[in-house]
Amino acid sequence: MLIIGSHVSFNKDKQLLGSVKEALSYGANTFMFYTGAPQNTNRSNLDDNLTYEAYQLMKENNIVLENIVVHAPYIVNLANAENFDFNVRFLKEELNRVELLGVNKIVIHPGSALKLPREQGLNNIVDTLNTVIDEHTKVQVLLETMAGKGSELGINFDELKYIIDNMKYKDKIGVCLDTCHLNDAGYNIENFDKILDEAEEKIGLDKVGCIHINDSKNVISAHKDRHENFGIGTIGFDNLINVIYNKRIENIPKILETPYVTFDDNSKERLYPPYKQEIEMIKNKKNNPNLIAQIRDYYK
Ligand code: FE
Ligand code: FE
Ligand code: ZN
Repeated sequence: MLIIGSHVSFNKDKQLLGSVKEALSYGANTFMFYTGAPQNTNRSNLDDNLTYEAYQLMKENNIVLENIVVHAPYIVNLANAENFDFNVRFLKEELNRVELLGVNKIVIHPGSALKLPREQGLNNIVDTLNTVIDEHTKVQVLLETMAGKGSELGINFDELKYIIDNMKYKDKIGVCLDTCHLNDAGYNIENFDKILDEAEEKIGLDKVGCIHINDSKNVISAHKDRHENFGIGTIGFDNLINVIYNKRIENIPKILETPYVTFDDNSKERLYPPYKQEIEMIKNKKNNPNLIAQIRDYYK
């Protein structure tokens, strides 16, 4: 079965209930969210009543908790040993929040080496994760494949394997493949089975817990990380459809993180989510060259 959704918002007032409603408005059967703003680590208390209401709505619409994904804030840099104490404290709290919500997967960017040698950066990530994750941890931590912007770590399966191999609790760690990041890191999405072969050989396909579906604004190996809307980037419609419908990863949630579409309304810029229209394209397996225009029309 196709498990498709997108990044959705999670705000203080509506929490998980708001996220479920947003996902349903896109025709999705899964979703991903940050438990607060992606660019900071301020988090508000969870309201169990809203969580319970969200569960009811999910049940009515055949959305299962197993396919829901949280994304950790991207300002957390696990490779930076100077932030070790803060990172450990924040991540422990975040894993608790995710567990309280009943979600069992969290995607995290491995980190950036900054001025450190890459191996030292990887070792810092290992130390942090081994301090955070213990035998009681219920949530699986998924390391995302990165584009290689700046000194980002986790840009190939060897670096991800290095982290996984050094984990005390290997069953609690996995990976999230991001098609834009893979492309920008130098992997050719046109031959996605070859990428899966490498993942299978180095870390095992059972470690893949989530796929981020994004087109890219840049050519292969550009090391940029700029997402493009579905089918209109350098990866293209056919290649992305082949990823989504690849039988080897059939039961893994696919999450769109394509950019919002801008629309100039009386010189006031508005932003519209593209996910309803993109999910339609994916379900129909039909390319839509007028995607951007249709999104603007829909929300006008
Ligand atoms: Fe990410
Ligand atoms: Fe991503
Ligand atoms: Zn990205």
